[in-house]
Amino acid sequence: RARKRFGQNFLHDAGVIHRILRAIHAREGERMLEIGPGQGALTEGLLSSGAQLDVIEIDLDLIPILQAKFGQQPNFRLNQGDALKFDFNRLDAAPNSLRVVGNLPYNISTPLIFHLLDNAHLIRDMHFMLQKEVVERLAAEPGGGDWGRLSIMVQYHCRVEHLFNVGPGAFNPPPKVDSAIVRLAPHEVLPHPAKDHRLLERVVREAFNQRRKTLRNTLKQLLPASAIEAAEVDGSLRPEQLDLAAFVRLADQLAAQPGAAHQD
Ligand code: SAM
Repeated sequence: RARKRFGQNFLHDAGVIHRILRAIHAREGERMLEIGPGQGALTEGLLSSGAQLDVIEIDLDLIPILQAKFGQQPNFRLNQGDALKFDFNRLDAAPNSLRVVGNLPYNISTPLIFHLLDNAHLIRDMHFMLQKEVVERLAAEPGGGDWGRLSIMVQYHCRVEHLFNVGPGAFNPPPKVDSAIVRLAPHEVLPHPAKDHRLLERVVREAFNQRRKTLRNTLKQLLPASAIEAAEVDGSLRPEQLDLAAFVRLADQLAAQPGAAHQD
């Protein structure tokens, strides 16, 4: 029985499962991490590719089921626990090697992506099933209503591809929302490195807290008008009109403000 508390919607559509596995394209010997394997809908195909698979599952009732199904396979390792608290260094993966997969519980998807991005140096790519609306925000471009904090902070670290949509009927029980598969691939070299990415977070958070107001208005506690100008940003714009590079220029101006690194 699926448990609501853990956001359980199990995939049962063989066509969709196959399509996801094809998009991931796991290969022999690769280090993979599946978050929330559930009853193993994706796990089976990942293991048969010959990849070295770690899974993290929180639900104690599912642990014996997963152990019975896959415990005999030498390339399978079961970790019980909360993925939000999991220390990815425990996996002993080489830099840039880990391939992460998950049909995620939608209530934890954003904090989990941020937790993974803290370990971006270990990760080669991530494939997630998410609420379609969240994928649209991840993959958004400047200028529209989907462009915001999530798009900017994830695109700072990753290339984002919205691969395909999945309807509620592919799951048991069916969720109330449409879903989509997204691929996130951490940049090997950041295209727009900030002097201090925590300052980028701060500028973006302040700017989008009141997305209908002008930057001059929302950023006035952080940056004087002269600094906004020095960043070559028009202070009369609203935050959704700025691209990632412009936010990084604002963050770098913030880094140059006296005492900036200490205020929070
Ligand atoms: N991958 C399976 C599938 O596609 O059928 C299950 C997907 S279900 C949407 C999400 C899974 O994540 C459940 O098995 C749930 O118990 C597990 N889960 C929920 N919260 C978790 C957490 N914080 N850490 C690890 N697993 C979690």
